[in-house]
Amino acid sequence: MKKILVSECLYGGRAVRYDGADIRETDPRFLRWKAEGRLLPVCPEVFGGLTTPRPAAQRVGDRVRTESGKDVTREYAAGAAEALRLAREHAVAFAILKQGSPSCGSKYIHDGTFSGLKKKGQGLTAEYLRNAGFTVLGEEDLDEAARLLADGDGD
Ligand code: SF4
Repeated sequence: MKKILVSECLYGGRAVRYDGADIRETDPRFLRWKAEGRLLPVCPEVFGGLTTPRPAAQRVGDRVRTESGKDVTREYAAGAAEALRLAREHAVAFAILKQGSPSCGSKYIHDGTFSGLKKKGQGLTAEYLRNAGFTVLGEEDLDEAARLLADGDGD
């Protein structure tokens, strides 16, 4: 049974999000995959050595910065690299990552102005995974995830 790489904040059980909030996914399909032991939770930002809670950060050009301007690109890149290493080690079928995050976003991210606006784009971890050939879905794509599993991608 192939595993699915998932954002740890969706998996639940440990406070990893920048604001410490609990945003675990409760869709019955996700919970079934979790009970089956199919899910491999990762938090790239914790992997990168960042604390919880931590200042919100956004992608600004090719960098990742906090609102006060601190450059945290190195930490985000280290976390993305570790998530990719685990994806390869476990030969995961695909990934389901938290939408909108500067690490995990796969369709849109905040626009870098800290004004609440979002734009099309992806987080650093989604980018690393896709560049390595992995399919990256968001939590809104569980229909697609179920279809991939039904098609045999998770065998
Ligand atoms: S880096 Fe990803 S897994 Fe970690 S809290 Fe942010 S969205 Fe969730």
